[in-house]
Amino acid sequence: MKHLWPHHVRTRLTLWYVAILAGVLLIYGGSTCAIVLLQLRTQVDHLATEDLETVEGFLSFGSDGKLGLRNDYHYHPYPAETQQRFLEVRAEDGTLLYKDAGLAERVLGGKPEPGEGVDSYSRRSIRLADGMRIRLISRRHMIDGHPAIIRVGFSEEPMWQRFWQLVIGLLVGLPLALGLAGIGGYHLARRALGPVERMARRAREINAEQLDARIDVENPHDELGLLAQALNETLSRLQLSFEQLKRFTSDASHELRTPLTAIRSVGEVGLQQEGDRDHYREVIGSMLEETERLSRLVESLLTISRADSGQIQLQQATIPLVPVVEEASSLLDVLAEEKGQTVSFEGDSSIRVKADTVILRQVVINLLDNAIKYSPRKGHISVRVRRCNSHTACVEVEDCGPGIAPEHRDKVFDRFYRIDEARSREAGGAGLGLALAKWGAEAHGGGLELDSTTAGCIFRLLLPLSADADASEETPGATRPISLDARLTLERRSG
Ligand code: ADP
Repeated sequence: MKHLWPHHVRTRLTLWYVAILAGVLLIYGGSTCAIVLLQLRTQVDHLATEDLETVEGFLSFGSDGKLGLRNDYHYHPYPAETQQRFLEVRAEDGTLLYKDAGLAERVLGGKPEPGEGVDSYSRRSIRLADGMRIRLISRRHMIDGHPAIIRVGFSEEPMWQRFWQLVIGLLVGLPLALGLAGIGGYHLARRALGPVERMARRAREINAEQLDARIDVENPHDELGLLAQALNETLSRLQLSFEQLKRFTSDASHELRTPLTAIRSVGEVGLQQEGDRDHYREVIGSMLEETERLSRLVESLLTISRADSGQIQLQQATIPLVPVVEEASSLLDVLAEEKGQTVSFEGDSSIRVKADTVILRQVVINLLDNAIKYSPRKGHISVRVRRCNSHTACVEVEDCGPGIAPEHRDKVFDRFYRIDEARSREAGGAGLGLALAKWGAEAHGGGLELDSTTAGCIFRLLLPLSADADASEETPGATRPISLDARLTLERRSG
Protein backbone atom coordinates (compact mmCIF):
# COMPACT_ATOMS: atom_id res chain seq x y z
CA MET A 1 0.00 0.00 0.00
CA LYS A 2 2.85 2.30 0.93
CA HIS A 3 4.41 2.12 -2.54
CA LEU A 4 1.18 3.59 -3.99
CA TRP A 5 1.56 6.71 -1.84
CA PRO A 6 3.07 9.45 -4.03
CA HIS A 7 6.64 10.48 -3.26
CA HIS A 8 6.36 14.13 -4.24
CA VAL A 9 5.09 16.57 -1.67
CA ARG A 10 3.35 18.56 -4.40
CA THR A 11 1.32 15.48 -5.46
CA ARG A 12 0.45 14.64 -1.86
CA LEU A 13 -0.57 18.24 -1.18
CA THR A 14 -2.77 18.27 -4.29
CA LEU A 15 -4.44 14.96 -3.34
CA TRP A 16 -5.15 16.19 0.17
CA TYR A 17 -6.45 19.47 -1.20
CA VAL A 18 -8.78 17.75 -3.71
CA ALA A 19 -10.02 15.25 -1.09
CA ILE A 20 -10.82 18.00 1.42
CA LEU A 21 -12.44 20.14 -1.26
CA ALA A 22 -14.56 17.13 -2.42
CA GLY A 23 -15.73 16.58 1.19
CA VAL A 24 -16.59 20.25 1.64
CA LEU A 25 -18.44 20.44 -1.72
CA LEU A 26 -20.40 17.24 -0.96
CA ILE A 27 -21.52 18.58 2.42
CA TYR A 28 -22.34 21.95 0.90
CA GLY A 29 -24.18 20.41 -2.12
CA GLY A 30 -26.08 17.92 0.07
CA SER A 31 -27.32 20.61 2.43
CA THR A 32 -28.25 22.90 -0.49
CA CYS A 33 -30.36 20.11 -2.08
CA ALA A 34 -32.07 19.35 1.24
CA ILE A 35 -32.91 23.04 1.80
CA VAL A 36 -34.24 23.46 -1.77
CA LEU A 37 -36.43 20.34 -1.37
CA LEU A 38 -37.82 21.62 1.92
CA GLN A 39 -38.57 25.02 0.41
CA LEU A 40 -40.34 23.51 -2.60
CA ARG A 41 -42.46 21.26 -0.35
CA THR A 42 -43.37 24.23 1.91
CA GLN A 43 -44.44 26.12 -1.20
CA VAL A 44 -46.65 23.20 -2.37
CA ASP A 45 -48.12 22.85 1.15
CA HIS A 46 -48.91 26.54 1.23
CA LEU A 47 -50.67 26.55 -2.15
CA ALA A 48 -52.60 23.37 -1.34
CA THR A 49 -53.76 24.77 2.01
CA GLU A 50 -54.92 28.01 0.35
CA ASP A 51 -56.76 26.00 -2.27
CA LEU A 52 -58.45 23.82 0.33
CA GLU A 53 -59.65 26.90 2.24
CA THR A 54 -61.21 28.28 -0.97
CA VAL A 55 -62.84 24.99 -1.91
CA GLU A 56 -64.52 24.69 1.51
CA GLY A 57 -66.82 27.61 0.70
CA PHE A 58 -67.68 26.39 -2.78
CA LEU A 59 -68.97 22.89 -1.89
CA SER A 60 -72.70 22.32 -1.30
CA PHE A 61 -75.33 19.56 -1.62
CA GLY A 62 -77.68 19.90 -4.57
CA SER A 63 -81.43 19.24 -4.58
CA ASP A 64 -80.62 15.67 -5.74
CA GLY A 65 -78.59 15.13 -2.53
CA LYS A 66 -75.34 15.04 -4.45
CA LEU A 67 -72.35 17.10 -3.41
CA GLY A 68 -71.17 19.59 -6.04
CA LEU A 69 -68.64 22.34 -6.56
CA ARG A 70 -69.95 25.73 -7.49
CA ASN A 71 -69.34 26.62 -11.10
CA ASP A 72 -67.86 30.02 -10.32
CA TYR A 73 -64.89 28.38 -8.57
CA HIS A 74 -61.90 29.06 -10.68
CA TYR A 75 -58.72 27.31 -10.09
CA HIS A 76 -55.94 29.91 -9.81
CA PRO A 77 -53.29 30.00 -12.52
CA TYR A 78 -50.68 28.44 -10.22
CA PRO A 79 -47.04 28.03 -11.15
CA ALA A 80 -45.98 25.09 -13.27
CA GLU A 81 -45.06 22.82 -10.34
CA THR A 82 -48.65 22.86 -9.01
CA GLN A 83 -50.56 22.51 -12.25
CA GLN A 84 -51.69 18.96 -11.45
CA ARG A 85 -54.31 19.39 -8.72
CA PHE A 86 -56.96 16.95 -7.46
CA LEU A 87 -59.98 17.24 -5.18
CA GLU A 88 -61.85 14.51 -3.29
CA VAL A 89 -64.53 14.72 -0.58
CA ARG A 90 -65.50 11.77 1.59
CA ALA A 91 -68.02 11.21 4.36
CA GLU A 92 -66.64 10.23 7.78
CA ASP A 93 -67.38 6.56 7.06
CA GLY A 94 -65.27 6.79 3.88
CA THR A 95 -68.16 7.04 1.38
CA LEU A 96 -67.02 9.04 -1.62
CA LEU A 97 -69.10 12.25 -1.87
CA TYR A 98 -67.19 14.08 -4.62
CA LYS A 99 -64.13 13.77 -6.78
CA ASP A 100 -62.96 15.92 -9.64
CA ALA A 101 -62.78 14.68 -13.15
CA GLY A 102 -58.98 14.74 -13.25
CA LEU A 103 -58.77 11.80 -10.85
CA ALA A 104 -60.75 9.52 -13.21
CA GLU A 105 -60.58 6.00 -11.73
CA ARG A 106 -57.91 6.85 -9.18
CA VAL A 107 -58.62 7.55 -5.50
CA LEU A 108 -57.02 10.25 -3.35
CA GLY A 109 -56.05 8.54 -0.11
CA GLY A 110 -58.96 6.06 0.32
CA LYS A 111 -60.70 5.64 3.70
CA PRO A 112 -60.04 8.54 6.15
CA GLU A 113 -57.39 7.79 8.69
CA PRO A 114 -58.22 8.17 12.40
CA GLY A 115 -57.82 11.82 13.42
CA GLU A 116 -57.17 12.94 9.82
CA GLY A 117 -57.92 16.66 9.39
CA VAL A 118 -59.49 17.00 12.85
CA ASP A 119 -58.95 20.55 14.25
CA SER A 120 -56.17 21.34 11.77
CA TYR A 121 -54.81 20.44 8.36
CA SER A 122 -53.28 16.99 7.87
CA ARG A 123 -50.42 16.79 5.41
CA ARG A 124 -48.80 13.69 3.93
CA SER A 125 -47.17 12.48 0.76
CA ILE A 126 -48.80 9.56 -1.08
CA ARG A 127 -48.66 7.84 -4.44
CA LEU A 128 -51.66 7.45 -6.74
CA ALA A 129 -52.44 4.08 -8.30
CA ASP A 130 -50.40 5.08 -11.39
CA GLY A 131 -47.39 5.94 -9.26
CA MET A 132 -47.77 9.72 -9.36
CA ARG A 133 -46.40 11.39 -6.20
CA ILE A 134 -48.96 13.61 -4.50
CA ARG A 135 -48.83 16.03 -1.57
CA LEU A 136 -52.17 15.51 0.21
CA ILE A 137 -53.76 18.13 2.50
CA SER A 138 -57.02 17.19 4.25
CA ARG A 139 -59.36 18.75 6.74
CA ARG A 140 -62.71 17.85 8.32
CA HIS A 141 -65.49 20.30 7.48
CA MET A 142 -69.26 20.54 7.89
CA ILE A 143 -70.99 20.91 4.52
CA ASP A 144 -74.60 21.89 4.87
CA GLY A 145 -74.64 20.23 8.32
CA HIS A 146 -72.95 17.01 7.12
CA PRO A 147 -69.48 16.16 8.40
CA ALA A 148 -67.07 15.48 5.55
CA ILE A 149 -63.36 15.20 4.84
CA ILE A 150 -62.12 17.48 2.06
CA ARG A 151 -58.83 16.44 0.45
CA VAL A 152 -56.77 18.46 -1.97
CA GLY A 153 -53.83 16.78 -3.67
CA PHE A 154 -51.03 18.59 -5.55
CA SER A 155 -48.68 16.66 -7.76
CA GLU A 156 -45.13 16.51 -6.34
CA GLU A 157 -43.66 15.44 -9.66
CA PRO A 158 -42.55 18.94 -10.79
CA MET A 159 -40.98 19.46 -7.36
CA TRP A 160 -38.97 16.21 -7.54
CA GLN A 161 -38.05 17.02 -11.11
CA ARG A 162 -36.49 20.31 -10.03
CA PHE A 163 -34.80 18.60 -7.12
CA TRP A 164 -33.15 15.93 -9.32
CA GLN A 165 -32.14 18.57 -11.86
CA LEU A 166 -30.31 20.34 -9.09
CA VAL A 167 -28.68 17.10 -7.81
CA ILE A 168 -27.55 16.07 -11.31
CA GLY A 169 -26.26 19.58 -12.01
CA LEU A 170 -24.19 19.46 -8.84
CA LEU A 171 -22.95 15.92 -9.47
CA VAL A 172 -21.84 16.79 -12.98
CA GLY A 173 -20.24 20.03 -11.82
CA LEU A 174 -18.42 18.41 -8.87
CA PRO A 175 -15.79 16.37 -10.80
CA LEU A 176 -15.32 19.34 -13.11
CA ALA A 177 -14.74 21.70 -10.19
CA LEU A 178 -12.46 19.15 -8.47
CA GLY A 179 -10.48 18.61 -11.68
CA LEU A 180 -9.94 22.34 -12.16
CA ALA A 181 -9.07 22.83 -8.48
CA GLY A 182 -6.66 19.85 -8.64
CA ILE A 183 -4.84 21.23 -11.69
CA GLY A 184 -4.68 24.71 -10.13
CA GLY A 185 -3.57 23.28 -6.77
CA TYR A 186 -0.86 21.14 -8.38
CA HIS A 187 0.59 24.14 -10.22
CA LEU A 188 0.44 26.28 -7.09
CA ALA A 189 2.16 23.57 -4.99
CA ARG A 190 4.77 23.14 -7.71
CA ARG A 191 5.47 26.85 -7.81
CA ALA A 192 5.52 27.17 -4.04
CA LEU A 193 7.91 24.23 -3.66
CA GLY A 194 10.12 25.23 -6.58
CA PRO A 195 12.61 27.06 -4.31
CA VAL A 196 12.99 23.88 -2.20
CA GLU A 197 14.13 21.93 -5.26
CA ARG A 198 16.53 24.69 -6.22
CA MET A 199 17.86 24.81 -2.65
CA ALA A 200 18.39 21.03 -2.62
CA ARG A 201 20.21 21.17 -5.98
CA ARG A 202 22.46 23.98 -4.74
CA ALA A 203 23.13 22.27 -1.39
CA ARG A 204 24.18 19.08 -3.23
CA GLU A 205 26.82 21.09 -5.13
CA ILE A 206 28.43 22.41 -1.93
CA ASN A 207 31.36 20.33 -0.70
CA ALA A 208 34.46 20.80 1.46
CA GLU A 209 36.29 22.59 -1.38
CA GLN A 210 33.68 25.30 -1.75
CA LEU A 211 32.32 25.86 1.70
CA ASP A 212 32.04 29.57 0.92
CA ALA A 213 29.18 28.88 -1.53
CA ARG A 214 25.71 29.79 -0.29
CA ILE A 215 22.11 28.94 -1.11
CA ASP A 216 20.15 31.69 -2.92
CA VAL A 217 17.57 33.38 -0.70
CA GLU A 218 14.70 34.23 -3.07
CA ASN A 219 12.42 35.88 -0.53
CA PRO A 220 13.99 36.50 2.89
CA HIS A 221 10.58 37.01 4.53
CA ASP A 222 8.78 33.77 3.68
CA GLU A 223 9.25 30.37 5.33
CA LEU A 224 11.48 29.01 2.56
CA GLY A 225 13.61 32.16 2.70
CA LEU A 226 14.00 31.64 6.45
CA LEU A 227 14.98 28.00 5.82
CA ALA A 228 17.57 29.09 3.23
CA GLN A 229 18.96 31.67 5.67
CA ALA A 230 19.16 29.06 8.45
CA LEU A 231 21.01 26.68 6.08
CA ASN A 232 23.38 29.47 5.08
CA GLU A 233 24.07 30.26 8.73
CA THR A 234 24.82 26.56 9.34
CA LEU A 235 27.16 26.61 6.35
CA SER A 236 28.92 29.69 7.73
CA ARG A 237 29.42 27.97 11.08
CA LEU A 238 30.68 24.84 9.34
CA GLN A 239 33.03 26.91 7.20
CA LEU A 240 34.38 28.67 10.28
CA SER A 241 34.94 25.40 12.17
CA PHE A 242 36.47 23.82 9.09
CA GLU A 243 38.86 26.71 8.61
CA GLN A 244 39.73 26.71 12.31
CA LEU A 245 40.41 22.99 12.11
CA LYS A 246 42.56 23.45 9.01
CA ARG A 247 44.49 26.29 10.64
CA PHE A 248 44.88 24.28 13.84
CA THR A 249 46.19 21.25 11.94
CA SER A 250 48.69 23.29 9.94
CA ASP A 251 49.79 25.31 13.02
CA ALA A 252 50.14 22.12 15.05
CA SER A 253 52.24 20.41 12.36
CA HIS A 254 54.38 23.53 12.11
CA GLU A 255 54.92 23.56 15.89
CA LEU A 256 55.73 19.84 15.96
CA ARG A 257 58.22 20.21 13.15
CA THR A 258 60.38 22.74 15.03
CA PRO A 259 61.44 20.55 17.99
CA LEU A 260 61.69 17.52 15.70
CA THR A 261 64.04 19.39 13.37
CA ALA A 262 66.01 20.55 16.41
CA ILE A 263 66.34 16.97 17.72
CA ARG A 264 67.44 15.72 14.32
CA SER A 265 70.02 18.45 13.72
CA VAL A 266 71.43 18.18 17.27
CA GLY A 267 71.75 14.41 16.73
CA GLU A 268 73.31 14.76 13.27
CA VAL A 269 75.83 17.38 14.42
CA GLY A 270 76.63 15.26 17.49
CA LEU A 271 77.31 12.23 15.31
CA GLN A 272 79.49 14.13 12.85
CA GLN A 273 81.71 15.53 15.57
CA GLU A 274 84.11 13.14 17.26
CA GLY A 275 83.99 13.74 20.97
CA ASP A 276 84.45 12.42 24.44
CA ARG A 277 81.85 11.21 26.89
CA ASP A 278 80.98 14.77 28.06
CA HIS A 279 80.36 15.84 24.48
CA TYR A 280 77.82 13.02 23.96
CA ARG A 281 76.18 13.74 27.34
CA GLU A 282 75.69 17.34 26.24
CA VAL A 283 74.19 16.27 22.88
CA ILE A 284 71.83 13.80 24.57
CA GLY A 285 70.92 16.45 27.15
CA SER A 286 69.95 18.93 24.37
CA MET A 287 67.96 16.24 22.60
CA LEU A 288 66.12 15.38 25.82
CA GLU A 289 65.34 19.06 26.36
CA GLU A 290 63.74 19.24 22.90
CA THR A 291 61.92 15.96 23.56
CA GLU A 292 60.58 17.47 26.77
CA ARG A 293 59.32 20.49 24.82
CA LEU A 294 57.78 18.14 22.24
CA SER A 295 55.96 16.12 24.93
CA ARG A 296 54.60 19.31 26.49
CA LEU A 297 53.36 20.44 23.11
CA VAL A 298 51.75 17.08 22.34
CA GLU A 299 50.14 17.13 25.79
CA SER A 300 48.69 20.61 25.14
CA LEU A 301 47.46 19.61 21.69
CA LEU A 302 45.78 16.53 23.14
CA THR A 303 44.09 18.61 25.85
CA ILE A 304 42.85 21.10 23.26
CA SER A 305 41.47 18.45 20.95
CA ARG A 306 39.81 16.59 23.85
CA ALA A 307 38.32 19.88 25.08
CA ASP A 308 37.06 20.69 21.58
CA SER A 309 35.33 17.35 21.22
CA GLY A 310 33.79 17.69 24.70
CA GLN A 311 35.64 14.66 26.04
CA ILE A 312 36.91 16.39 29.17
CA GLN A 313 34.54 15.89 32.07
CA LEU A 314 35.22 18.28 34.94
CA GLN A 315 35.54 16.49 38.30
CA GLN A 316 34.13 19.40 40.26
CA ALA A 317 34.05 19.69 44.04
CA THR A 318 33.71 22.61 46.43
CA ILE A 319 37.28 23.43 47.41
CA PRO A 320 39.17 26.29 49.06
CA LEU A 321 40.88 28.33 46.33
CA VAL A 322 44.02 29.44 48.19
CA PRO A 323 45.72 26.00 48.53
CA VAL A 324 45.30 25.29 44.80
CA VAL A 325 46.94 28.59 43.84
CA GLU A 326 49.68 28.07 46.44
CA GLU A 327 50.43 24.60 45.09
CA ALA A 328 50.67 25.89 41.51
CA SER A 329 52.92 28.68 42.68
CA SER A 330 55.26 26.34 44.57
CA LEU A 331 55.60 24.15 41.47
CA LEU A 332 57.03 27.13 39.56
CA ASP A 333 59.17 28.33 42.45
CA VAL A 334 62.32 26.99 40.91
CA LEU A 335 61.74 28.89 37.62
CA ALA A 336 61.34 32.20 39.45
CA GLU A 337 64.40 31.42 41.52
CA GLU A 338 66.43 30.79 38.37
CA LYS A 339 65.64 34.34 37.24
CA GLY A 340 66.11 35.89 40.68
CA GLN A 341 62.44 36.93 40.76
CA THR A 342 60.26 37.41 43.85
CA VAL A 343 56.70 36.13 44.01
CA SER A 344 54.34 37.59 46.64
CA PHE A 345 51.12 35.86 47.53
CA GLU A 346 48.07 37.30 49.21
CA GLY A 347 44.91 35.27 49.67
CA ASP A 348 41.55 35.14 51.40
CA SER A 349 41.46 31.54 52.61
CA SER A 350 37.69 31.64 53.23
CA ILE A 351 37.07 31.69 49.48
CA ARG A 352 35.66 28.42 48.19
CA VAL A 353 34.84 27.60 44.61
CA LYS A 354 33.34 24.64 42.81
CA ALA A 355 36.15 23.46 40.60
CA ASP A 356 38.19 20.65 39.11
CA THR A 357 41.46 20.95 41.06
CA VAL A 358 43.69 19.57 38.28
CA ILE A 359 42.38 21.91 35.59
CA LEU A 360 42.25 24.92 37.91
CA ARG A 361 45.88 24.32 38.98
CA GLN A 362 46.92 24.06 35.31
CA VAL A 363 45.22 27.40 34.50
CA VAL A 364 47.10 29.14 37.35
CA ILE A 365 50.36 27.44 36.29
CA ASN A 366 49.96 28.77 32.73
CA LEU A 367 49.39 32.34 33.98
CA LEU A 368 52.27 32.21 36.45
CA ASP A 369 54.56 30.56 33.92
CA ASN A 370 53.95 33.45 31.49
CA ALA A 371 54.48 36.03 34.25
CA ILE A 372 57.86 34.46 35.09
CA LYS A 373 58.79 34.01 31.40
CA TYR A 374 58.02 37.57 30.34
CA SER A 375 59.16 39.43 33.52
CA PRO A 376 62.77 40.56 33.61
CA ARG A 377 65.41 39.09 35.90
CA LYS A 378 65.07 40.19 39.50
CA GLY A 379 61.53 41.30 38.75
CA HIS A 380 58.54 41.00 41.05
CA ILE A 381 55.35 39.01 40.50
CA SER A 382 52.35 39.23 42.78
CA VAL A 383 49.53 36.72 43.08
CA ARG A 384 46.27 37.69 44.80
CA VAL A 385 43.24 35.58 45.62
CA ARG A 386 40.21 37.71 46.53
CA ARG A 387 36.49 38.29 46.01
CA CYS A 388 35.70 40.56 43.04
CA ASN A 389 32.04 40.83 44.06
CA SER A 390 29.45 38.84 45.99
CA HIS A 391 29.33 36.11 43.31
CA THR A 392 32.84 35.99 41.93
CA ALA A 393 36.26 35.05 43.17
CA CYS A 394 39.37 36.09 41.28
CA VAL A 395 42.98 35.07 41.05
CA GLU A 396 45.15 37.97 39.87
CA VAL A 397 48.65 37.38 38.52
CA GLU A 398 50.55 40.67 38.11
CA ASP A 399 53.97 40.82 36.53
CA CYS A 400 56.49 43.52 35.66
CA GLY A 401 57.14 42.44 32.07
CA PRO A 402 56.82 44.50 28.87
CA GLY A 403 53.01 44.34 28.93
CA ILE A 404 50.82 43.56 25.94
CA ALA A 405 49.99 46.30 23.41
CA PRO A 406 46.24 46.99 22.90
CA GLU A 407 46.19 45.50 19.39
CA HIS A 408 47.35 42.12 20.74
CA ARG A 409 45.16 41.99 23.85
CA ASP A 410 42.30 39.96 22.35
CA LYS A 411 44.48 37.86 20.10
CA VAL A 412 46.80 36.52 22.81
CA PHE A 413 44.01 34.14 23.84
CA ASP A 414 43.93 32.61 20.32
CA ARG A 415 45.67 29.31 19.70
CA PHE A 416 49.28 29.54 18.52
CA TYR A 417 49.21 33.35 18.73
CA ARG A 418 52.52 34.80 19.87
CA ILE A 419 53.48 38.45 19.88
CA ASP A 420 57.18 37.81 19.51
CA GLU A 421 57.44 34.34 18.02
CA ALA A 422 61.19 33.98 18.32
CA ARG A 423 61.22 35.11 21.94
CA SER A 424 58.28 32.97 22.93
CA ARG A 425 59.70 29.89 21.17
CA GLU A 426 63.01 30.47 22.83
CA ALA A 427 61.19 30.58 26.16
CA GLY A 428 59.59 27.25 25.30
CA GLY A 429 56.10 28.49 24.42
CA ALA A 430 53.92 27.33 21.56
CA GLY A 431 51.22 29.97 21.94
CA LEU A 432 48.77 27.55 23.57
CA GLY A 433 49.10 28.48 27.24
CA LEU A 434 46.56 31.32 27.32
CA ALA A 435 44.15 29.51 24.97
CA LEU A 436 44.11 26.57 27.39
CA ALA A 437 43.81 28.87 30.42
CA LYS A 438 40.85 30.65 28.86
CA TRP A 439 39.15 27.34 28.05
CA GLY A 440 39.73 26.15 31.66
CA ALA A 441 38.26 29.37 33.08
CA GLU A 442 35.20 29.21 30.85
CA ALA A 443 34.67 25.50 31.54
CA HIS A 444 34.24 26.50 35.20
CA GLY A 445 31.67 29.14 34.28
CA GLY A 446 34.19 31.93 34.74
CA GLY A 447 36.49 33.91 32.46
CA LEU A 448 39.94 35.30 31.92
CA GLU A 449 40.59 39.04 31.74
CA LEU A 450 43.67 41.03 30.91
CA ASP A 451 44.72 44.49 32.09
CA SER A 452 47.98 45.69 30.71
CA THR A 453 50.27 48.70 30.76
CA THR A 454 53.83 49.11 29.58
CA ALA A 455 54.84 48.30 33.14
CA GLY A 456 53.37 44.83 33.08
CA CYS A 457 50.22 42.73 32.82
CA ILE A 458 47.51 41.66 35.23
CA PHE A 459 45.79 38.42 34.19
CA ARG A 460 42.57 38.00 36.18
CA LEU A 461 41.02 34.54 36.44
CA LEU A 462 37.34 34.88 37.42
CA LEU A 463 35.51 31.98 39.06
CA PRO A 464 31.96 31.79 40.41
CA LEU A 465 31.95 31.55 44.21
CA SER A 466 30.57 28.29 45.53
CA ALA A 467 26.95 28.73 46.63
CA ASP A 468 27.46 26.24 49.53
CA ALA A 469 30.28 28.32 50.93
CA ASP A 470 28.29 31.52 50.65
CA ALA A 471 25.30 30.02 52.39
CA SER A 472 27.36 28.75 55.29
CA GLU A 473 29.48 31.83 55.69
CA GLU A 474 27.28 34.76 54.91
CA THR A 475 25.54 36.53 57.80
CA PRO A 476 22.84 38.93 56.63
CA GLY A 477 23.74 42.60 57.06
CA ALA A 478 27.37 41.92 58.00
CA THR A 479 30.42 42.70 55.88
CA ARG A 480 32.67 39.72 55.41
CA PRO A 481 35.83 40.19 57.52
CA ILE A 482 39.07 38.65 56.26
CA SER A 483 40.85 37.06 59.21
CA LEU A 484 44.52 37.75 59.69
CA ASP A 485 45.36 34.04 59.49
CA ALA A 486 43.65 33.96 56.15
CA ARG A 487 45.89 36.62 54.67
CA LEU A 488 49.11 34.95 53.94
CA THR A 489 52.00 36.53 52.21
CA LEU A 490 54.69 34.47 50.70
CA GLU A 491 57.95 36.04 49.71
CA ARG A 492 60.09 33.91 47.53
CA ARG A 493 63.57 35.03 46.86
CA SER A 494 66.13 33.27 44.91
CA GLY A 495 69.61 32.98 46.32
P1 ADP B 1 53.30 31.04 25.01
O1 ADP B 1 53.37 29.62 25.34
O2 ADP B 1 53.98 31.40 23.74
O3 ADP B 1 53.65 31.93 26.14
P2 ADP B 1 50.63 31.87 25.54
O4 ADP B 1 49.37 31.46 24.91
O5 ADP B 1 50.79 31.58 26.97
O6 ADP B 1 51.78 31.27 24.65
O7 ADP B 1 50.80 33.42 25.30
C1 ADP B 1 50.57 33.96 24.04
C2 ADP B 1 51.44 35.19 23.82
O8 ADP B 1 51.01 36.23 24.69
C3 ADP B 1 52.88 34.98 24.19
O9 ADP B 1 53.59 34.49 23.08
C4 ADP B 1 53.35 36.35 24.57
O10 ADP B 1 53.74 37.06 23.42
C5 ADP B 1 52.09 36.98 25.14
N1 ADP B 1 52.09 36.95 26.61
C6 ADP B 1 51.49 36.03 27.40
N2 ADP B 1 51.66 36.34 28.71
C7 ADP B 1 52.37 37.45 28.73
C8 ADP B 1 52.87 38.28 29.80
N3 ADP B 1 52.66 37.98 31.07
N4 ADP B 1 53.58 39.39 29.47
C9 ADP B 1 53.80 39.70 28.18
N5 ADP B 1 53.35 38.98 27.12
C10 ADP B 1 52.66 37.86 27.40
